[in-house]
Amino acid sequence: MAEFKNKIALAKALWSNMQIIKVKPSLNWFLIKYMGKFNLLNIDGQLIIHSHLPSINSKAFTRFINEHLLARTEGPSHAQIGLTNACPQNCLYCYNKKRKGELLNTSEIKQAIQELKKMGVFWLGFTGGEPLLNKDIVEIVKSVGDDCAIKLFTTGINLTEQLAVDLKKAGLLYVSISLDHWAEKEHDRIRGYIGAFRTALRAIDLFKSIGVHVSVSAVISRKMLQGNQVQEFLKFLIDLGVHEAWLSETKPTVEAFWNEASVITEEERLSLVRLQDKYNKEGKITVNYLGHFEGREHFGCNAGNKMVYLDAFGEVSPCVFTPMTFGNVRDKSVQAVFGEMKKHFPSESCCFINRNYALLKKYSRGEAPISKENTLEMMKEVRFSPMSRFSRLNKKR
Ligand code: SF4
Repeated sequence: MAEFKNKIALAKALWSNMQIIKVKPSLNWFLIKYMGKFNLLNIDGQLIIHSHLPSINSKAFTRFINEHLLARTEGPSHAQIGLTNACPQNCLYCYNKKRKGELLNTSEIKQAIQELKKMGVFWLGFTGGEPLLNKDIVEIVKSVGDDCAIKLFTTGINLTEQLAVDLKKAGLLYVSISLDHWAEKEHDRIRGYIGAFRTALRAIDLFKSIGVHVSVSAVISRKMLQGNQVQEFLKFLIDLGVHEAWLSETKPTVEAFWNEASVITEEERLSLVRLQDKYNKEGKITVNYLGHFEGREHFGCNAGNKMVYLDAFGEVSPCVFTPMTFGNVRDKSVQAVFGEMKKHFPSESCCFINRNYALLKKYSRGEAPISKENTLEMMKEVRFSPMSRFSRLNKKR
């Protein structure tokens, strides 16, 4: 019954965007089927499928339809920006820790945001380092505007009640708190920081108490997967009362994981996809596994094509997990660097970094990110997989 009601609410919200009927029927059918796999949440009036998409009754969702489904803009739909590289935690798998340079200042960040929006970005993730260490974070969030969904990825360090309220008022829609394990000692060990677990739990409570959509972003190790511990972890998250589990397997972004034993297999990815569908059917928590959204049967890997990452120093990478640079926004416009990068990145069905980590080994030469010169050399060796279902349906004729 609840599922039926959700489908009705979903249909109503889509109906209010009447122009969607101009989208190809096969694409609309794909979207209805995809969205039907989730329980629609109503958080403070925002109808939310999951936090990788804007709420469906928002201006950002209308931009998704108009700019990406109808106009089929060449620009990105999703972007992440590092607001600082500083972070007191010390995770082994951190995708940013080795990046360095001169930090972008607040006006450079704000300018990049507006450029990204003009290019088509309707979903923006703020990451770091620990983004709450950027003293201008409220001003930056406010500058985004109400036609772009904003998601904050944080450990919870530096969060005060006032800061949480100010971020919500400034337009923050989603927050994702890092939590990798249900056992306090284990989470603190993974994060290299005593107190990480308690900090995360406090942040979850704080954001929930003021009506923000709260997810936990967790990095699932292969060990956890093979030990069938993901279900135990999800039970813990259900008991915590978070809205969503934002799951990713450990990505081979840094040297410690550049080996076959660390990288998830297709069978393991599919087991997480099935687990997601099962939990979402039960409806106690939304499970949003990256390998589901970015799987071949859904939206695929859009690194460098519909996704772009600007690190805290202005280097432009295909996504947060790809330690490569195509240039710096201090030297060229975001659009120019993105345009050059996109020539090398057709949308594909499999995770680029899971497939190509061995090339990082060859070309990194101790650098993170890999210099533009070496990145371009590396790209000559990359072979892409076919397009995902969504990209095939949405491609220009
Ligand atoms: S490379 Fe992997 S993590 Fe990055 S956008 Fe593609 S699927 Fe996602």
